[in-house]
Amino acid sequence: MPRGDGRLSHDLLPGEKGPQDACGVFGVWAPGEEVAKLTYFGLYALQHRGQESAGIAVSNGSQILVFKDMGLVSQVFDETSLGSLQGHIAVGHARYSTTGASVWENAQPTFRATAHGSIALGHNGNLVNTAELAEMVADLPKQNGRSTQVAATNDTDLVTALLAGQTDSGEADGTPLTIEEAAARVLPKVKGAFSLVFMNEHTLYAARDPQGIRPLVLGRLERGWVVASETAALDICGASFVREIEPGEFVAVDENGLRSFKFAEANPKGCVFEYVYLARPDTDIAGRNVYLSRVEMGRRLAKEAPAEADLVIATPESGTPAAIGYAEASGIPFGAGLVKNAYVGRTFIQPSQTIRQLGIRLKLNPLKEVIKGKRLVVVDDSIVRGNTQRALVRMLREAGAAEVHIRISSPPVKWPCFFGIDFATRAELIANGMTIEEIGTSLGADSLSYISIDGMIEATTIAKPNLCRACFDGEYPVELPDPELLGKQLLETELAAGPAATAAADAIRRP
Ligand code: SF4
Repeated sequence: MPRGDGRLSHDLLPGEKGPQDACGVFGVWAPGEEVAKLTYFGLYALQHRGQESAGIAVSNGSQILVFKDMGLVSQVFDETSLGSLQGHIAVGHARYSTTGASVWENAQPTFRATAHGSIALGHNGNLVNTAELAEMVADLPKQNGRSTQVAATNDTDLVTALLAGQTDSGEADGTPLTIEEAAARVLPKVKGAFSLVFMNEHTLYAARDPQGIRPLVLGRLERGWVVASETAALDICGASFVREIEPGEFVAVDENGLRSFKFAEANPKGCVFEYVYLARPDTDIAGRNVYLSRVEMGRRLAKEAPAEADLVIATPESGTPAAIGYAEASGIPFGAGLVKNAYVGRTFIQPSQTIRQLGIRLKLNPLKEVIKGKRLVVVDDSIVRGNTQRALVRMLREAGAAEVHIRISSPPVKWPCFFGIDFATRAELIANGMTIEEIGTSLGADSLSYISIDGMIEATTIAKPNLCRACFDGEYPVELPDPELLGKQLLETELAAGPAATAAADAIRRP
């Protein structure tokens, strides 16, 4: 099924990819509640984090059922499918693919049998030692003749396989480890970004990588517990925020309550791009509200990069808070210069070439009466390839704008992300190899300015050492393997790139 481009934001011409999120996860332990429906609404609140596939696993205490398919949450589930998912524990997942193709087999939650029952697991993030993990899976002992074969080609299924397949001795005749014992052994070996929500028949689990790159929060229901990628997903299902799952923490919830242990020392490096663009504005991360961060980025941008203009407009929706901040700090009025067609991105109908040529007009329409004759400041959150901004400038000029000054509330994106955001390859990033002035000329703008890295970081109120900002400065918080051992298709091609990649491919095929 072709992918519907339902991302809330801006940097997309139809058929062009902008920054993409790497999934939303949700889990609930709540006897007596309709856990599948709570998960459905939780995933609905997280839909912006992944629109390729959606899935929910539910346990009734004796067995786990998984329902997943390609498409948006609202397309995958209906009353009948949700009604068939009866139980007291659930985990849910909305996917955007960063390792492994966008196919049904890679939809999550992943599911595997273990010696103690089953495990269903959802993952937000992206791992950087996938090839190494594939070798570890290939070395797992067969248990009771059961295969360790990995059916999917995503990094998540490797983690699921490793959690399911541990024995005390590491040999086939060893005693199988429980999930908690296996997690203590396996999770310290997993490198990269992972916010995991998983379950067996009796217990809900959650874990977050030592850097805490992707968010993960814990909430309380009257009769249960919730874990979710964003606090906005707690709000929608009536859960109160308790705390973040700490970087390097493993949590288990069952009828005995909540217990937790540290599987690694915390070394916080939360993704700064969550504050810029990825997370919902009504979410709080590390105690800081995302909307307030964006407004403050706009204020600082106005001070760092003033413009002589008549009107501040936003690229809706993601540029709006920063545009409000820019207008407030500059004293230039804020107005709606662009109207977004909120539903065009929510279709699986592929536009024909003729329609595709309409480009940005499929998504945005200028308000000519507002724009005509005005000197505009156009605030956007980021530029990846620049194609959309170029089309936007042309459209605004055609609508009568006298001047177009572009202001960006994040610094130039110069480096790829290996932790769950699919920007583009380095060669495709417009800021890689061009000066800001050259980019402005290429976009056809009268001027272009970006916020500074420090301005962006200060707006989050989070200490600079505690944030990942690698896509802006190239300082990756986790050691990266050789380039040939990174990449979305690592587990789908043998790459002719040495033993690790071959082992990865072998692990997939192993009978
Ligand atoms: S590289 Fe950029 S997008 Fe990726 S985790 Fe770091 S700050 Fe976030």
